Amino acid sequence: MKAFHELLSDSAAAHGHLCAGQVVGVRMAMLGCRLIGLDDPTRREQIKKLIVYVEMDRCTADAVAHVTGVKLGRRSLKFMDYGIMAATFVNLETGKAFRVLSTEEARDLASVYAPDIAGKVPQQLAAYQRMPDSVLFKVQSVHVKLDPCDMPGPTRRKIVCSRCGQVIRDRREVYLDNRPICKPCSEACYFSHAREVTWPAMNWSPGERNSSEEETQSDRPIERSPC
Ligand SMILES: [Zn+2]
Ligand SMILES: [Zn+2]
Repeated sequence: MKAFHELLSDSAAAHGHLCAGQVVGVRMAMLGCRLIGLDDPTRREQIKKLIVYVEMDRCTADAVAHVTGVKLGRRSLKFMDYGIMAATFVNLETGKAFRVLSTEEARDLASVYAPDIAGKVPQQLAAYQRMPDSVLFKVQSVHVKLDPCDMPGPTRRKIVCSRCGQVIRDRREVYLDNRPICKPCSEACYFSHAREVTWPAMNWSPGERNSSEEETQSDRPIERSPC
């Protein structure tokens, strides 16, 4: 694994800015990986051994993902929407798992660790780099039950929603009267009032590279009248 300051500047560049969350996230990832025995998680031999659960969608999550190389599309990054500054690092080979939580005390101790720095944000940025892991984090050894349908690799199972016909992958269906339905057809959905739309230029496609045709995606979607 690269050195801390190199990881921090790479992570900040990928994230878009340097912030206290980057410092905490880089350190959280370094510690998590060390605890499960992976010294270079982005290396090809190690990348398949790691799953990380992040419990917040804040700056820290980007840093954890950047340092560990886990990705949503690889199914190695799991987002648990808990609103907690924590991440769990799982070694799939050994089954070892550690949950690393950022402490609230660290916030209060910023002035103790960086008394020479003025301003809350710069002070936190410096202090989080100086604090020992034991102040910045609490660590729990945990068991993570991994379902085969949560694992990286090919789709384990497909089923068709009995209501809308959409294919549902990896057991994400729910059952109503013993019939499988997709989550959007159930109550457990983040959107509502879905209506399919069409628009005049919807036959647009990007075509091959170097095509002389001008790219255009004008025209606003028009809602189809409800059936
Ligand atoms: Zn940030
Ligand atoms: Zn459906």
